[in-house]
Amino acid sequence: MEQRYDCLIVGAGMAGAVAARELAEQGGQKVLVLERRNHVGGNMYDRFDERGVLIHQYGPHIFHTNSKRVFDYLSRFTRWRLYEHQVVANIPDGEGRLEYPVPFNLVSLRTAFPPEQAEKLEEKLVAAYGREKKVTILQLRQAPDPELAALADYVYDHVFVRYTMKQWGQTPEEIDPATTARVPVFLSEDCRYFQDEYQGMPLEGYTPLFLSLLDHPNITVELNTDAGQRLRLEGEQVLLDGEAFSGTVIYTGAADELFACRYGRLPYRTLDFAFESYPVDFWQSHGTVNYTVDRDYTRITEFKYLTGQDLPGTTTIMKEYSRAYTGAAGEVPYYAVINGESNALYARYKALADRIPNFHLLGRLAEYKYYNMDAIAARALELCDSLLK
Ligand code: FAD
Ligand code: UDP
Repeated sequence: MEQRYDCLIVGAGMAGAVAARELAEQGGQKVLVLERRNHVGGNMYDRFDERGVLIHQYGPHIFHTNSKRVFDYLSRFTRWRLYEHQVVANIPDGEGRLEYPVPFNLVSLRTAFPPEQAEKLEEKLVAAYGREKKVTILQLRQAPDPELAALADYVYDHVFVRYTMKQWGQTPEEIDPATTARVPVFLSEDCRYFQDEYQGMPLEGYTPLFLSLLDHPNITVELNTDAGQRLRLEGEQVLLDGEAFSGTVIYTGAADELFACRYGRLPYRTLDFAFESYPVDFWQSHGTVNYTVDRDYTRITEFKYLTGQDLPGTTTIMKEYSRAYTGAAGEVPYYAVINGESNALYARYKALADRIPNFHLLGRLAEYKYYNMDAIAARALELCDSLLK
């Protein structure tokens, strides 16, 4: 039988959807996208809840990038709401609670310490590292100056150690240093969470962006379809519905699952999300509030800050609880637990995939990396550039 599709893509998240569009549009290829969930968009999926609040089902997603290519590309499929995310740490303070910006910055410093002490620390910090500079917490803890070392301990204790323990079940020293480096100490009064050139939220939401991305006559999307039901790997051969498939395959799911976890499971963290609605315009002070010292959850996000939705008298918040991923039904592997051992295990799965001609692992799960969505879009575009050369 003649092959109906030139390309098979597993997963309709950012990796799969961008790749599908590129191959369909630039390459004129017939693309089949298989998605096990009942919707497109991967973890960026959003929807309206029963109160009409636009929520992010799989955790808060704020778009930010320095890549003009990615921004221009996605701008073909959405208009943007200008939004610059701000996060505060919420910590117990005597009888009450205190909030200051995260990343910990000069404004946080002045909130946490009395004026004279804050001024002196600021002078020392700026002399040591320079104004507008970012220093990771692990670097700051190496500061030879005892007052800066004491400040580093304060920030470590009040911002990093317990949040990191909740999120990863490990201390900041035990996890990949690139992870805490995402949220450095910032010697600035800039209270934005990201400093990227392009930042915002898709005006109508992420799901419409994906529907538009995938709306092309050469693209067929099949939802509620686990690739395991349709795709089989036999040695170096790919079978689609039992027939040999010689086209390109782009797989954006977990690499261990692809091979039935034959070498053991790759470690991931999963999240439980608790949504709560309140009959108020706004429930908390910022889009995201991090509970860096107490509480079982890591952070609370209030979606209306992100989306700018004009909906008086009701709001929805979401608490995030992190735990080890076990592979049980219904669990989602959200964060790769990256370390020497897990990278080595991943390399074994990658080597298996690399033996199959025209087979590509793409995306946050398939590449076992801590990628933001813009990085995934960039990687999808680059892979398609090379495939269409
Ligand atoms: P995914 O979105 O995971 O998509 C993979 C898709 O493949 C899924 O839909 C899955 O159902 C499907 N799939 C897997 N296996 C199979 C199979 N066997 N058969 C069929 N379908 C399958 N990035 C940012 O830039 N900004 C943020 O603010 C941000 N916030 C985040 C918050 C959280 C809590 C998390 C977990 C991530 C966040 N990210 C953020 C990262 C962002 O989610 C990812 O970069 C992006 O979603 C990766 O896209 P992807 O296509 O690689 O993976
Ligand atoms: N982190 C922390 N305290 C904070 C914010 C972040 O300890 O208030 C650490 C924590 O280890 C976290 C990492 O920095 O996992 C990266 O934070 P980011 O906000 O980038 O995580 P994400 O939004 O990807 O979950």
